Amino acid sequence: MFNREYIRVLYIDLSTRTFDIKDRADLSLYLGGVGIASKLLDEELQYDLSPLDVEQPIIFAIGALSTIYPVVTKTVCMFRSPLTGNLGESYAGGRLAMSMLYSGYDAIVIKGQANRPVYLSIGSRHVEIKNADPIWGTTTEESARYLREMEEGRGLRSIVRIGQAGESQIRFANLNVDTYRHFGRLGAGAVFGSKNLKALVINGENNYPIPKENFKNYRKMYKEIYDKVVNTEIMEKYHDLGTPVNVKQLNDKQGLPTRNLTSGSFEYADELSGESFAKERLVRKLACVACPVGCIHIGQYRRMFADRSHEYETLNVSYDYELIFALGSFIGISSKDEFFELLEKVEAYGMDVITMGVLLGWLTEAYKNGLIKEEDLGTHLEFGYTEGYSKVLEGLISARNELYQTLALGTEAAADEYGGKEYAMTLGKHEMTGYHTGYGAVLGQAVGTRHSHLDNAGYAVDQTVDVKEKDKFVDAIFQEEITRCLSNSLVICLFARNVYDLETTVRAFNAIGINKSEDELKDIAERIYALKLEIKRKMGFDFKSLRFPKRFFETPYRYGKMDEEVMQDLLSRYIAKVESLVAKNA
Ligand code: SF4
Repeated sequence: MFNREYIRVLYIDLSTRTFDIKDRADLSLYLGGVGIASKLLDEELQYDLSPLDVEQPIIFAIGALSTIYPVVTKTVCMFRSPLTGNLGESYAGGRLAMSMLYSGYDAIVIKGQANRPVYLSIGSRHVEIKNADPIWGTTTEESARYLREMEEGRGLRSIVRIGQAGESQIRFANLNVDTYRHFGRLGAGAVFGSKNLKALVINGENNYPIPKENFKNYRKMYKEIYDKVVNTEIMEKYHDLGTPVNVKQLNDKQGLPTRNLTSGSFEYADELSGESFAKERLVRKLACVACPVGCIHIGQYRRMFADRSHEYETLNVSYDYELIFALGSFIGISSKDEFFELLEKVEAYGMDVITMGVLLGWLTEAYKNGLIKEEDLGTHLEFGYTEGYSKVLEGLISARNELYQTLALGTEAAADEYGGKEYAMTLGKHEMTGYHTGYGAVLGQAVGTRHSHLDNAGYAVDQTVDVKEKDKFVDAIFQEEITRCLSNSLVICLFARNVYDLETTVRAFNAIGINKSEDELKDIAERIYALKLEIKRKMGFDFKSLRFPKRFFETPYRYGKMDEEVMQDLLSRYIAKVESLVAKNA
């Protein structure tokens, strides 16, 4: 935290129903956010136990600048991923960072398993384990409604919860944060479920003012950053159409993964474009606490209560590019209503939308190829068939048979069991994201520490560096991975990564009385990357075992087809860089 020299960690053990608070000066070496969360994960993780063993920890952390500067809004969550078996790292905005800051904790470590469903209520003066029987079995929205009534702190509290997917330990269940934000992708929701933990409510009830002696400098610095965020073009697109602006742009460049990546363009891209959503469905834009941008686009979806009734309800659903790709083009859904119908259901159950879409893409093709039987699936399936997809979602929650129990493990595991690996679109066992832009998108996600497009933005390198310059290309991805370790230790929103360049970050620290040099920050970033690599190694990950599904090389992108040999060459060059960094930090 900005006004003290140590990191305050709250440790909770659900098995013994006890908690402990430790002030750790040693953790300052890792700055905050992903740095301290990685260190705590390494200390607390039982490397020989499975991801959903009750002894495994789940960790939340914020950084020294959290919510006191614009767009420093995120909280990191770390755990062992039940989806990949490897590093689980996820970020969410909403109110959580503010609530943690003003409850007085920089990090929270949760271990053990409650003997019945519970939720955690945390504030600066209390840590309580409360009965969650009344909300076990409810959706993410139903449980939030109950918790809003039961818990104090309206406007200051954050409510993190799971839906039925987390309770059933579906390996890609997420944590819903304050309704419109999520700890998504790698199965944090399943970890909560394995602990019988339905929710976490944190009340930021304290006040920690900026010390008087720093206030003038702080205000000046705040204004400078605020102006950069609001009055320059850096973040304009996020407020305007938001990330859905990518739909048309990527489609025009054959970069929009369509029908399980059998194509890079979708004939209904106009209907699902950011422009069309804005014109026909957008009702409001929201922001995480401490963000003046407001990129969260809320669309309106009207649905019937029951078949043949004349009763309708109007729902507000947040949409963005990745969601449109995953439950739109990737499974051939061609209308906004059908997209919203699936999205609302996936969100209510508390599943990761990207993984769900990519799994459905593989399933549709596997079904068409005779690998999956209709009697097991309980429905016919083809691209664009919303009713069939809806039945699959219900089948997953009820875990009705062996097929559905396998599907609940994710795309890689399902393809291991039923075949079709050449079109099971995963990288590092993690479902692909919405960028068929070239070698950078594929390599970047494969080598990223959490196998996410956000680890190093390889898709952006596709736009800026010629892949023929192989060393330069690989180095751009490698350097970005390190740079993002710094951004993620501050836990800024990555949309603002170009606002917080090194020089600005140093001055932002100095303005609140923390002295850091650019070199020090660079060293910290490298130290964090080396630590994450070491955690991955101890979890059994080997870069040489990475698999590139054939489909990536069959479907043309903007400049033709990718070549698998070139990809392997790029991977070898990346591995060489990793080995030299590990040796340097040994
Ligand atoms: S840009 Fe969007 S995601 Fe980022 S902090 Fe602002 S509202 Fe949240």
